[in-house]
Amino acid sequence: YPRTRNTSAFAQQYSIQEQLGKGHFASVYLCIEKCTGMRYAVKKFEKRSGDKARSQVDGLQQEIAVLMGVSHPSLLCLKDTFDEDDGVYLVLELAPEGELFNWIVMKQKLTEEETRRVFVQLFQAVKYLHERNIVHRDIKPENILLVDKNLTVKLADFGLAKIIGEESFTTTLCGTPSYVAPEILKTSNHRRYTRAVDVWSLGVVLYICLCGFPPFSDELYTAENPYTLAQQILAGRFDYPSPYWDSVGDPALDLIDRMLTVDVDERITIDECLMHPWLTNSDPSSLVGRSVDSTDGLTGAMSHLDFSRRKAVRERTLLSAINDVKITQVVELGEDMSPVKIFEKNQGKASHQATAAAQMKTGSGKENGGKK
Ligand code: ATP
Repeated sequence: YPRTRNTSAFAQQYSIQEQLGKGHFASVYLCIEKCTGMRYAVKKFEKRSGDKARSQVDGLQQEIAVLMGVSHPSLLCLKDTFDEDDGVYLVLELAPEGELFNWIVMKQKLTEEETRRVFVQLFQAVKYLHERNIVHRDIKPENILLVDKNLTVKLADFGLAKIIGEESFTTTLCGTPSYVAPEILKTSNHRRYTRAVDVWSLGVVLYICLCGFPPFSDELYTAENPYTLAQQILAGRFDYPSPYWDSVGDPALDLIDRMLTVDVDERITIDECLMHPWLTNSDPSSLVGRSVDSTDGLTGAMSHLDFSRRKAVRERTLLSAINDVKITQVVELGEDMSPVKIFEKNQGKASHQATAAAQMKTGSGKENGGKK
């Protein structure tokens, strides 16, 4: 490994403390640098024999290569590596507050302001990676670590990260099921996928932060909704159920819709995420860690998006939940954004649900190939 020494120097320089976490391949411990008293995290990979070990070493080399080449305030920094008899040690910057996942579980969900704070940092970190042709490929709340209670975050676990050529594509099946992009599930069809997979995973995390549960889940499988996790993802089939999403603003929903777009060519890019009104039209003081560059002039084209269409989709969702309305029904909203009428496509007649008058449509408004 680059920069790795074949001595048992780790124990001379660091003392290991309590375990901080455990992944598939490694255990992570708190450690203290003896000469400075500084605290770090050390990720220890046990040495194994056989095929498993070989793929583990490949992954490790990749993780080290990626970590050594990156330096960004929102990416976990690699301090040192050691190759010892009992394992390989990666000494990493410490994220004392642990996983964002635990924070969400504790608080049930984050406010929009808190979520925005987290996502400005994540978008910038992923933008930095993508500009360097690095795809993370395993973004999930467990790999987003908290440095402090102010929601300063670091993206971690580069075990699956891959450096791709400008023109090349990555086709390995990897990632965590709930967070993988549809194009990854289609790799058996030799579909190629790129940086866009990180945007999808970030979209899943964004959704979870704002409501506390995932958009795609096998637990949503019922007789009336007989779609497996993979089918839900492949069809981009998710919704914004009431009452959990009632207080979330339309810009956030619009951004999620764009990130969880099945068609890779239509999916928003990380640069566009940073320019989305959900970030640019908010109170600038809430945007910690945002560079001046990325705030300049971002109230351009995207700030004039018409959110009413998204609102209509969302209202339809809410009404569907309440009235058990079939997906063939579409709600259109009046000027004041109140739901007005519902047409039943199969019966071809209208039933007035609310008071105001407005134009109605049938059979349209499906987004991402199947939201309801
Ligand atoms: P996976 O099974 O997801 O591939 P892994 O074996 O690569 O995981 P990590 O995800 O990097 O291991 O680390 C496992 C856990 O250890 C993390 O989820 C987190 O709880 C903790 N951890 C990792 N790095 C740090 C750090 N720098 N500071 C604090 N805790 C950390």
